[in-house]
Amino acid sequence: MAIRAEYIWIDGSEPTQKLRAKTKVIFNGEEPPVWGFDGSSTNQAPGNQSDCVLNPVKVVPDPIRGGDNILVLCEVLTVDMEPHPSNTRAACVEAASKYGEKYEPWFGIEQEYTFFKEGRPFGFPQFGYPAPQGGYYCGIGSDEIFGREIVEAHLDNCIKAGLTISGINAEVMIGQWEFQIGPLGPVETSDEIWLARYLLYRTAEAFDVAATLDPKPVKGDWNGAGAHTNFSTKQMRESYDPIIAGAEALGKRHDLHVENYGADIEHRLTGLHETAPWTHYSYGVSDRGASVRIPWQTAKDGQGYLEDRRPNANMDPYTVTRLITETICGDAEGDL
Ligand code: ADP
Ligand code: MN
Ligand code: MN
Ligand code: MN
Repeated sequence: MAIRAEYIWIDGSEPTQKLRAKTKVIFNGEEPPVWGFDGSSTNQAPGNQSDCVLNPVKVVPDPIRGGDNILVLCEVLTVDMEPHPSNTRAACVEAASKYGEKYEPWFGIEQEYTFFKEGRPFGFPQFGYPAPQGGYYCGIGSDEIFGREIVEAHLDNCIKAGLTISGINAEVMIGQWEFQIGPLGPVETSDEIWLARYLLYRTAEAFDVAATLDPKPVKGDWNGAGAHTNFSTKQMRESYDPIIAGAEALGKRHDLHVENYGADIEHRLTGLHETAPWTHYSYGVSDRGASVRIPWQTAKDGQGYLEDRRPNANMDPYTVTRLITETICGDAEGDL
């Protein structure tokens, strides 16, 4: 019997990498093999040496095609079978193996995104602006909510694919939504974020609506789109001091993190709209105007996790989870 395997990879687009996918028909229960593509069409190779390698790293059921069809998430290798320069997963795997056993890092990522239809955010009128922000966050009713049937279909697809999706909500800006993945290890959460993004784009295609990760889709008094990254180590899940130490450690490398948290971050981290300015690091309990928030429940329990509120919606989760692991676990080890 033949099945369809959708090979999914991350390209070399700058400044923000994009997903690409193509289909391989596989016969008789064969494992999805290593495959290749034309890297000269994805900003990953020159035309005269265009071959790049697709190495499968995670296989899940394909909820869009259904049946026995599969999605095959791949990392990109060179023809020497080394990580391609655009492959940020390899360094994430390295950080996870360096610190994993002692610190057991977990990540939960809140992926925000915005639907666009006919060149403007879904719900914006053709001329002028909709009612100002206030009623849209977790709103109910067709005057406030645009795209719910797409969001529900995406949630169904993530669950059918076996992803660790932990929730969804409508966001502060009209046409803006969020899903959360995790908590899982750095590599596992990142793989699932990329698969959930793939499913988001594919699900929305059928409705003729585009989902975008633009961090500031509308200038002015409208919230941007972020990817709050919640983090804990085994030690943070057992006591409070490591949480404060983690928040302090993130402050030591603020610039490095901000530079790697998604293109155009300075347009989103303005100090307004529930953000802290990108020029200054801060942390606090329950503080949605800080770079890093310690949730009230964590402060009350004296154990739990912290929330890095800085990453943009268009961030690369392999890079963000690697940096947080290296900074917080590295600081605890005296490696920084
Ligand atoms: P917010 O209140 O900021 O909107 P959400 O409920 O949207 O928070 O997201 C919180 C995320 O944190 C979820 O993905 C959840 O799985 C994750 N999370 C919960 N506990 C932990 C933990 N101990 N370590 C890391 N992430 C966690
Ligand atoms: Mn949230
Ligand atoms: Mn949110
Ligand atoms: Mn949050």
